[in-house]
Amino acid sequence: MTKRTKIKALGQHFLKNQTILKKIIRSISPCKEDLIIEIGPGKGALTFPLAEKAGKVIAIEIDPFLIPYLQRKNIPNLTILEKDILRVDFNKLVEKEENFKGHVKLVGNLPYSLSSPLLFKVLQVKELFSECVFLLQKEVAERICSRSGSKKFAPLSILFQIHFSARKRFVVPPECFTPPPKVNSALVSLKKRDAPLYPISKEESFHNFLKGAFKHRRKILRNNLEKLNLPISLIDEAYNKFTLEKNLRAEQLSISQFVELFNFFYQA
Ligand code: SAM
Repeated sequence: MTKRTKIKALGQHFLKNQTILKKIIRSISPCKEDLIIEIGPGKGALTFPLAEKAGKVIAIEIDPFLIPYLQRKNIPNLTILEKDILRVDFNKLVEKEENFKGHVKLVGNLPYSLSSPLLFKVLQVKELFSECVFLLQKEVAERICSRSGSKKFAPLSILFQIHFSARKRFVVPPECFTPPPKVNSALVSLKKRDAPLYPISKEESFHNFLKGAFKHRRKILRNNLEKLNLPISLIDEAYNKFTLEKNLRAEQLSISQFVELFNFFYQA
């Protein structure tokens, strides 16, 4: 792999701006009670300051050439794993730390190409984490945090906000990285709620329902629902019951309305 293809494939844009690094560490606010799992530690720009303050850091890096950078300081509370994060079993990883009684935080300056599969993987094991702090492409960060009524409101917003309180902290411009990426990034903090906003019994079906409801953003919600093979009479009944305007678009519904509709269509 040439240097250029590696940067692209592995999203290797390393943070170099000390002010931003400090702001990210402050947002993670590591303490001795924390087990921090870091995705893509790179050369350790976040890893080393995190290990100074956290109880333990487990840093998972796919690129074997970066492992020596991470091992160079020989830090006792830092475990480095050379692995593909998408193949890591987070349940097993945390189970192994059975003596650890504090919070588990998942953090990282994520490679852009990984953000989508990784975010959905995180949703599958969300019970494990008290907090996630990710540096992401700005658009993805905004999608996670956006509210109903915004053009950016999406399934990702709903799925995360039901379980986490999501906040976009600050934007990080390309010149803070080496090499600079083509787009802006933003830090998102996701604090797990004590209980989900709404209980969802069949999460996978709910996710598929949301994907269908938002599939064609230019179309009104009703047309998207029809494509989900829901009987027209049932859609009419729902629109009457919940007094929904016929020409509503998916992004205009609130999270609670999506849950109501899902329960009406699939839990009856
Ligand atoms: N944390 C470092 C920093 O902020 O300077 C590096 C961040 S860089 C944006 C992303 C890192 O994730 C790179 O070190 C890259 O090699 C690593 N990476 C890419 N794909 C990965 C994967 N599937 N599993 C684990 N690490 C991965």
